[in-house]
Amino acid sequence: MKNSEKASARKPGNPDLEVGPTASPGAKNLPSSSSRRKFMSKIGGASAAACTLAAVGLEPLRAFAVADTRVQPTSGRVQHALTSPRFAGWRSLEGTGFAMDTARSISVLEALVGFDTTSRNSNLELIAWVEAYLDRLGVAHARVPDGTGAKANLMATIGRPEVPGYILSGHTDVVPVDGQTWSSDPFRLAQRDGRLYGRGATDMKGFVACCLAAVPDMLSRKLARPIHLALSYDEEVGCIGVRDIIARLRDAPVKPVACFVGEPTQMQIIIGHKGKHGVRATFRGKSCHSSIAPDGVNAVEHAADLITEVRRRAEKLAREGARDDMYDVVHTTLLTSIAQGGTALNIVPDECTVEFEARGLGMDESKEVTDAIVAWAKAEIEPQMQKADASCGIDFEEILEYPALDMKSDHPLVALAKQLSGRNSHGKVSFGTEASLFVSMAGIPTVVVGPGSIAQAHKPDEFVEISELTKCAGFIERLIAHCASSRGLAA
Ligand SMILES: [Zn+2]
Repeated sequence: MKNSEKASARKPGNPDLEVGPTASPGAKNLPSSSSRRKFMSKIGGASAAACTLAAVGLEPLRAFAVADTRVQPTSGRVQHALTSPRFAGWRSLEGTGFAMDTARSISVLEALVGFDTTSRNSNLELIAWVEAYLDRLGVAHARVPDGTGAKANLMATIGRPEVPGYILSGHTDVVPVDGQTWSSDPFRLAQRDGRLYGRGATDMKGFVACCLAAVPDMLSRKLARPIHLALSYDEEVGCIGVRDIIARLRDAPVKPVACFVGEPTQMQIIIGHKGKHGVRATFRGKSCHSSIAPDGVNAVEHAADLITEVRRRAEKLAREGARDDMYDVVHTTLLTSIAQGGTALNIVPDECTVEFEARGLGMDESKEVTDAIVAWAKAEIEPQMQKADASCGIDFEEILEYPALDMKSDHPLVALAKQLSGRNSHGKVSFGTEASLFVSMAGIPTVVVGPGSIAQAHKPDEFVEISELTKCAGFIERLIAHCASSRGLAA
């Protein structure tokens, strides 16, 4: 089933997906943006977020009862339990005067955080929630499932699909909370001091929430250029899911103009990040009693030769390699992160596993660097092992790879992104994103810009500032205006 697209199965009668008793108004029946604002202003005392959803025909999210479906990592069993994601800081939204876009983003974020989409789990309940949300707004969508059927990407287009448009891209998975101490339930959005706490609040459900919250506004404008939503799975474990989305975009008759990946950058325009290539090397030696060590083939010691070579090359890259002053670490880095081997002091070890990675400046540099090390080990280490015993050797496997993002600062997309964000500067970041895959796989110009800070990502008490969601909503609002005016990148 890999790479196959299935039309979304809408089940209005499914109680797990029931979003409220009111009938869907359909996109064409939506109240206009201005009439919704008037509607909003008439309502006093009630939660702003709840009202914004009511204004577009949606029930407040707190009324949702959704099925919490988790794939148990050990058994693969799917377990259902009725849960109700709640927003712990809900009441404090009342009368706070958040802009409607922000209040709506918070409301959507509350729902998204309520799904435990740690990469090892299924993300299908979150996807089903988004599908129900889009159904209510009359927006068509398509799932792109993974090979197991336990996870899926989701794509949706607002506007005319036959015209090149803009992609807003985000991942739906989050990193684990295992071993972390949180002040509140990580899967229940909580507001404290102008911040929204929850796993994924900044990385990167906050951005996804802003995009979804803006869909009614996208629908209320006549878009000359469409806006595509691309939600992926398994970004945190190697940018896996998005590759199927990009393959579709690459093969589609109409190629999008550009893409914005909303990883947390505090809405700064990021034009570059390093690429990464990780390799696992398994050394197969020959075991014997350590008192007759010359009869064996010591896997740990041969692995040590590889580790030493990795270090030597890393130092050379730091000394003589290319430099880019926009990065904190200005050169390509290379290191061994894991070395495991040996069982007892008096046994010559017959196996050792080493994992090493390169993070390169140039688009394909990471892989070139690790490929060169693999070639060196095959030429220099493996023959020695096989000379002692023909069954010995080294097995190499790729663990993870993505290319570097390297958009030119004078690219028209960078100028547009600055215009939309109201900033004059751009930067580069040390963390990897899906952005480089849009460029390398499909030639779609892409920058990274999203709410929240990477400093809070992957940590306990992860949060996003509410003001960041407001800025992001503004960015998307200006993108909608840009698309309504039919301008492309060159305009
Ligand atoms: Zn992320």
